[in-house]
Amino acid sequence: MTIDAPPTTGIVDDASGRLLEPEAKRNRAPEGPVKVVHAFWLAGMSCDGCSIAATGATNPKVEDLMTGIIPGLPKVILHHPVLSMEVGEDFTHAYELAARGELDAPYVCIYEGSIADERIAAETDGYFSAMGLSAIEGETGEAGKPMPTADRLAQMAPGAAAVIAIGTCATWGGIPAAAGNPTGSMSTMDFLGKNYRSALGLPVINVPGCPPIGDNFTETVAAILLFLQGMGPLPEFDELGRPAWLFSETVHRGCTRAGYYEEGVFAKEYGDKECLVEIGCWGPVVNCNIVSRGFQSHMGGCMASGGPCIGCTMPGFPDKFAPFYEAPPGSAVSSAASRTVGFGIRRLRALSNHNANREVRWDELYGGEVPSGWGEPENPGPLKKAVKFFYQKLQFSGDKKKPGRDDSDRWHTDMPPRARNMQAPHDVSGAAESEGRAREDVDETWERR
Ligand code: SF4
Ligand code: SF4
Repeated sequence: MTIDAPPTTGIVDDASGRLLEPEAKRNRAPEGPVKVVHAFWLAGMSCDGCSIAATGATNPKVEDLMTGIIPGLPKVILHHPVLSMEVGEDFTHAYELAARGELDAPYVCIYEGSIADERIAAETDGYFSAMGLSAIEGETGEAGKPMPTADRLAQMAPGAAAVIAIGTCATWGGIPAAAGNPTGSMSTMDFLGKNYRSALGLPVINVPGCPPIGDNFTETVAAILLFLQGMGPLPEFDELGRPAWLFSETVHRGCTRAGYYEEGVFAKEYGDKECLVEIGCWGPVVNCNIVSRGFQSHMGGCMASGGPCIGCTMPGFPDKFAPFYEAPPGSAVSSAASRTVGFGIRRLRALSNHNANREVRWDELYGGEVPSGWGEPENPGPLKKAVKFFYQKLQFSGDKKKPGRDDSDRWHTDMPPRARNMQAPHDVSGAAESEGRAREDVDETWERR
């Protein structure tokens, strides 16, 4: 086995000679004026879940952004405290170039985790979240001491093309800002203030979620990069800085269990397949696209895996949605209304559903009997026949002729009634035997004819 020597060529800082980014094996020249964009990841009061979610993204993948293989997009040089190969000063050097305005390419800052009030920790000569040593004086740090990531953000944010807060801790404060927190934790918006604007004139962009859907993040980055490249419009953000196309709908509107809610059928315990509102789902009032996007690779997500929505994408999470797993107070009115109306709707739909599960031929030729060997579907009684009659009257009112397969002339009614003359093999294990008898019956029938 041979081991490749460490790369020695790539993007090099002119002043220091440090290698900022090894040369990609597969070099492509991105279309558009911007060839390279640096992405500086900063972590505050975080569990690293957002990093894990982002690296699991598939549309697009982080790797696709970093290798510049997406048409039109510049290549992203990711500086990440966990993922980057460089350590120590070699790692923080590019952050300092950006903070001093000496980086020769545009950059974005990505903040994960909430931002602690470092002044509290500084009172005891400590820090809450730091990365590397201060090369320049920060608000709370001193040169040569661990540098709070909050200070790094404060220094880098004005020159950044965009500041993206990833995850609910960074977007609204999240769990570290919950009741009782001793750190004074706050969101990126709270930290940078209402008047903050990036070098492109953008306020903080928020991609919430605890953790966020990785694709929501990488898709937002890709949309911003297209804009930066002059190849796409400025993506639409809502009044809270969320990508509007991802967060304008509530969970409930796209939920796979919404049909149960509409028909007033609710889960009693975890593992039930029905609507989860009475065991704590806040989906009707929460902005999140997990039901349409899935969590990863368009798979999974809260309701798909049986979990009620606890509002993890929302400002005020977790306090505003506690206690978890109890019905939200507002749901009492709407679920009672669904129960009342849904009771009748559900029964009417069951009648129509019974009719929809019948092939026309069976009604026209076999008097409603279903030639199934798998069971004995119930023959329509007078009520179901009446419902079908009036339903079709309504369905085809105004048509000169009833469309569809109702013309029994084209069915060969003189065909040997293989199925009709035999006892349907409802017992599947005895199907072969039944089939054998049936074939003899049919053969006899043919001979008589
Ligand atoms: S599980 Fe939640 S989001 Fe889904 S239908 Fe019920 S209330 Fe709505
Ligand atoms: S459905 Fe609710 S709990 Fe699940 S990710 Fe979305 S906001 Fe969070």
